[in-house]
Amino acid sequence: MREVVIGLLGAGNVGGGVVRILQENQADIERRLGASVRVKKLLVRSVDGDRDDSVPRHLLTTDPREILEDPEIRIVVELMGGIEPALTMVLDALGRSKHVVTANKALMATHGEQLFSEAQRRGVSINFEAAVAGGIPILRALREGLASDRIERITGIVNGTCNYILDAMSRTGAAYEDALKAAQDAGFAEADPALDVGGGDAAQKLSLLALLSFGQRVDPEAIPTEGITRVRAFDIAAADGLGYVIKSLAEARQTPEGPALRVHPVLVPKEHILATVRGSYNAVLVESRAMGRSLYHGRGAGPMPTGMAVVSDIIELCRHMFAFDAGRPPPEAFATVETATPISLDEVAHENYLCVHVTNVPGILGRVASCLGRHGVSVKRLEQELGGVGDPVDMVVVTERVPESNVRSAVAEIDGFDEVLAPSHRFRIQGPDGAE
Ligand code: NAP
Repeated sequence: MREVVIGLLGAGNVGGGVVRILQENQADIERRLGASVRVKKLLVRSVDGDRDDSVPRHLLTTDPREILEDPEIRIVVELMGGIEPALTMVLDALGRSKHVVTANKALMATHGEQLFSEAQRRGVSINFEAAVAGGIPILRALREGLASDRIERITGIVNGTCNYILDAMSRTGAAYEDALKAAQDAGFAEADPALDVGGGDAAQKLSLLALLSFGQRVDPEAIPTEGITRVRAFDIAAADGLGYVIKSLAEARQTPEGPALRVHPVLVPKEHILATVRGSYNAVLVESRAMGRSLYHGRGAGPMPTGMAVVSDIIELCRHMFAFDAGRPPPEAFATVETATPISLDEVAHENYLCVHVTNVPGILGRVASCLGRHGVSVKRLEQELGGVGDPVDMVVVTERVPESNVRSAVAEIDGFDEVLAPSHRFRIQGPDGAE
């Protein structure tokens, strides 16, 4: 039987999962591919570290040249993470006409263009299914299943850590800090969770989803991004009373003016399909012209789901290689990609949840309401917590659909009132299922 030899740069969580899947599913893979896949070397920082039992110790190396310079290795699988030295090694592999598979969203979101053009120049491919939503085959669905459709909007829960924390807060009434600590104890959040809870990780994934959906490269740093650190137990409970759950959503939409993208906590109606996504699960809702709505749901992280996505990419590359060896060129990853700047969200209209923390003095409710009115913000609902005069209380406002800029200017003025004790909390409200 034909054999494909691969090398892994990294043998940590995902690397261990990849090796395990190649071993456990060997017979199925051979049957589907008509070839076997052999791991020849695995690059690590130290050969002595603790790792998955499936990883053969005698194949570990700390010298990347043993993989990059080995002519027998035709596919290099990058599972180290971060930008450097991953970027240099991946460029080196492509430069030697090796195909590449990576799970590295940071690398692909920030240096994708350079890597695609190097791959194209060398007539090889770079696959990165595992970089977005772990085991969920969302990139493959966009690239292949929906290849003939026009993608209009993508709305995703693409960060399992945020979803785990917000879901725990909803279910138990826990404060953000306690839910984060529980997520860290359970292994669902990093010791330094900033990239996850700050929204940066979701912005990198959204940039890759926009690339696959719209053929447009958007710098993740240019995506308006708001993390979940300001969501309080009070907001979760108030949202619940209003019929919503709070989710961190990554959204990309095509508009005539350009792509509209954002990552932020949103009040989602309880009956919305994304409201039911629990724990560390991910889900991506795609709206496309011919197909309508389709949902992709599953585990967005973990050695086995992510390892499975990596191995599926390896299998796809093997098929391309076999076609190439038979004289056919590999398919181009992206025939045309343009760089796009996301449009300003200032004039985008939506309903809002607003929580103003004030000293309870006579007339304060009226002042807040009339300030909102002066800025063109119509109020749908306004409630104030009960409290004695001089007590700190929360005032919850639900606005009608109004442009972002109007709400922002109103909140800036309200936050300047002497009676306001802390910056107000404002979150967008998602329309019902299928609506904006
Ligand atoms: P990890 O457990 O930290 O493993 C990283 C591996 O790379 C380790 O084996 C490490 O060696 C090796 N490594 C790191 N820097 C190196 C260097 N400079 N030289 C040589 N070896 C180096 O990371 P992971 O969780 O498997 O994640 C890998 C990639 O998958 C990342 O891009 C991540 O974003 C992505 N991803 C992960 C998940 C997930 O569930 N974990 C999900 C989706 C995507 P040592 O073993 O000696 O430390």
